[in-house]
Amino acid sequence: MVIVMQKHTAEANIEHVTAELVRRGFDVHRSTGSDQTILGVVGKVDTIDTREFELFDGVQEVVRVSEPYKLSSRTFRPQKSVVTARGVEIGGGRVVVMAGPCTIEGEEQVFETARRVARAGARVLRGGAYKPRTSPYAFQGMGVEGLKLLRAAADETNMATVSEVMEISQIEGMLPYVDILQVGARNMQNFNLLSALGQIRKPILLKRGMSATIQEWLLASEYVMSGGNYDVILCERGIRTFETYTRNTLDISAIPVIDKLSHLPIIADPSHAVGRRDKVMPLARAIVAAGADGLLIEVHHDPEKAVCDGPQSLYPDQFTRLMDELRIIVPAVGRTL
Ligand code: PEP
Ligand code: MN
Repeated sequence: MVIVMQKHTAEANIEHVTAELVRRGFDVHRSTGSDQTILGVVGKVDTIDTREFELFDGVQEVVRVSEPYKLSSRTFRPQKSVVTARGVEIGGGRVVVMAGPCTIEGEEQVFETARRVARAGARVLRGGAYKPRTSPYAFQGMGVEGLKLLRAAADETNMATVSEVMEISQIEGMLPYVDILQVGARNMQNFNLLSALGQIRKPILLKRGMSATIQEWLLASEYVMSGGNYDVILCERGIRTFETYTRNTLDISAIPVIDKLSHLPIIADPSHAVGRRDKVMPLARAIVAAGADGLLIEVHHDPEKAVCDGPQSLYPDQFTRLMDELRIIVPAVGRTL
């Protein structure tokens, strides 16, 4: 249920309604807009007679949210959310490009790649330190030593960092180095992890599970938000279909659909969607043209030697060319880069 307060209503009215809801045992999530406040009410709201709250001073209307996801819905927050990570705004007028290697392998690799992607215009450096590998015999990541390199390379090139968290015990050790914690496709429904990420105050990049519906994905975001961490960025990364030519199938329609259903920023990852370098650039162009708030792209300074996902990693020169192309497309959809 959502309680829409009248425009410019007194703070005392908002506090009075909130206190009454809390007294009755509901969780109240406040969304403070520039001229209007909306209260999201979570709990057994079926027991509430909406007319009662409509009579409170300062209340404009009480709306039952029909979607199962509440805090991520446009009903709760009609205006788009902007998530800020180390000064980089995701969901605002500027399209944000996050780029870097699949996994952190060593100092030369991460610094070389960081310098190249930063020079081309990337604003967030990616790199996994804990890798969810399909095979237990594959490289599993450098852990905290890798995160230290990621941080140092991002500091030198003035970028924010994004890196994947696989389990609750890793969260605390990641916080000093990582500005955005990524939840991978394989963990989208790891509900205990999502709840734990609701307790921290750093942005979460929530990838879509490879067989998750849009509704399941939004409900996953709700696990983070209901804990009080509203800084969630959604990332489409391709879904499993009957097609085998590409690694996954990019669900481009998820971008406008999410934009309609949710206020959360939506970005997409063409690298994991298609799985081959020669098709990353066209998909990236389509993602931006479809209105996404950003891109997550794998780039490696020497992809032939990459330990992980080399065939889908762009060469730095290709990434530079892609950024030049995006500078042409982005203004056509009313954004900047
Ligand atoms: C990744 O970004 O490196 C990754 C493992 O992605 P996904 O969870 O989408 O497979
Ligand atoms: Mn990868």
